[in-house]
Amino acid sequence: MPGERILVVEDNEANLRLVTYLLEAKGYEIRGAGDAQQALQMVESFRPRMILMDLQLPGIDGYELTRRLKSNPATREVVIIALTAFAMRGDEDKARAAGCDGYITKPIDTRALPGKIAELLAASAPSNGAA
Ligand code: MN
Repeated sequence: MPGERILVVEDNEANLRLVTYLLEAKGYEIRGAGDAQQALQMVESFRPRMILMDLQLPGIDGYELTRRLKSNPATREVVIIALTAFAMRGDEDKARAAGCDGYITKPIDTRALPGKIAELLAASAPSNGAA
């Protein structure tokens, strides 16, 4: 839904710009964070409905950051979608085990991304009981 807040956690500037551009064009409100520390601050101030989470980050990685957010009652409802070049068998399981609610592989499919995000937001809407 336009206006919904999405935080993109991504240390690759080009990817961050691409995702921001694609989703702002659809009316979402986007913020970016380049590492876990920034992301934790952003989650508090920006209060995103969804996080697109690069799993490979400098320092605390996306798995650990996801575990922290999902184990905190204040942030556990935030929908976390792994955004990763890891496409080996078992990687999706590993992301889900860390608490990710969904999984999108890189390189980003620029045509499919906005639709996929809309779908994931709808699927996690509190009104359908999935939250
Ligand atoms: Mn990365």
